[in-house]
Amino acid sequence: MKLRLPVVSVYTVPTDAPEADGTLSWNSTTVVIAEVSSGDETGTGWTYGPAAVGDFLRDHLAALIEGRGALDIPAAHDAMCRAVRNAGRPGVAACAISALDIALWDLKARLLELPLARLLGVCRERVPVYGSGGFTTYHDKHLAAQLNGWVHGQHIPRVKIKIGEDRGHAASRDLDRVRTAREVIGSEAELYVDAGGAYTRKQAVRVGHALAEHDVGWFEEPVPSDDLTGLRLVRDSLPCDVTAGEYGYDLPYFARMIAAGAVDCLQIDATRCGGLTDFLRAAALAQAHGLEVSAHCAPHAHAAAAAAIPNLRHIEWFHDHVRLEDLLFTGALDPTGGTITPVHGLGHGLTLRTEEMERYRVA
Ligand SMILES: [Mg+2]
Repeated sequence: MKLRLPVVSVYTVPTDAPEADGTLSWNSTTVVIAEVSSGDETGTGWTYGPAAVGDFLRDHLAALIEGRGALDIPAAHDAMCRAVRNAGRPGVAACAISALDIALWDLKARLLELPLARLLGVCRERVPVYGSGGFTTYHDKHLAAQLNGWVHGQHIPRVKIKIGEDRGHAASRDLDRVRTAREVIGSEAELYVDAGGAYTRKQAVRVGHALAEHDVGWFEEPVPSDDLTGLRLVRDSLPCDVTAGEYGYDLPYFARMIAAGAVDCLQIDATRCGGLTDFLRAAALAQAHGLEVSAHCAPHAHAAAAAAIPNLRHIEWFHDHVRLEDLLFTGALDPTGGTITPVHGLGHGLTLRTEEMERYRVA
């Protein structure tokens, strides 16, 4: 079972409305797809990032994979990680490795005629999700409709909105939106906020005290996630959980974040950190330090691995990626009731809609 040369495709899909968090805005999302085949089976992996990730994957990683044994993912993963030394692992290279690694896991499960969740072995059949969106660009009616859909429509009892608008310069509107969100979802559902690293340290503490009035239990990136001392300061000052980790592109990043005591729940993104191989390792690292983990974005890329780890809190059911993964694939999962069931079909259970996606193709 030898691997053939991986194939890369890149699609850019406009968002359904302008989207922004505290520190970035966007109108489209680019997904880089890696397909890797052996025998009659093909595995599909993906990451979200610039089209340059596809170029890097094709030019620097694809040939490393060709001819290797399809079942020995650690060997392929290690070869890719060693090969990017001079290019630098964080960012483009890590995203390219991640897409290929996810494709390799999907392929391995298909070759063994198993759902990926069965190949990994599950801790739980149903995986909790939380609705994530609430962009700072939304007016109140839009925000209310989205939160209503999750909490009262799909019965997902956990939601997250973006705050930190205008790099932390609109804190009073942030708190107005949090109040609106709490009114819409009622007192029972969990309410989370993501400041996208927009606030300064003391500002984050002040905002955090105001958030407590609305029973916000999760304060993501109150300060920039590279400010580990600041995260720790905010964490020690507030009763809510402080979380970060979505920019973790390698295991030492998570080791440093944990060692600093910076977070209550570690966020890990398999489409950035080195694929499912390093997602599982980072989750084990967190477990060794008594921390739960939450899967960041790209929900369908995480579903099977999330079922496999004991210290999982939940998966982020991110509006932008949910919409895109619904477009990209047949076999998308249903979060009604607040959980998804990843054991379905072969591999990750998704099939690329190549023809329908052609109009979005950029490479
Ligand atoms: Mg975030």
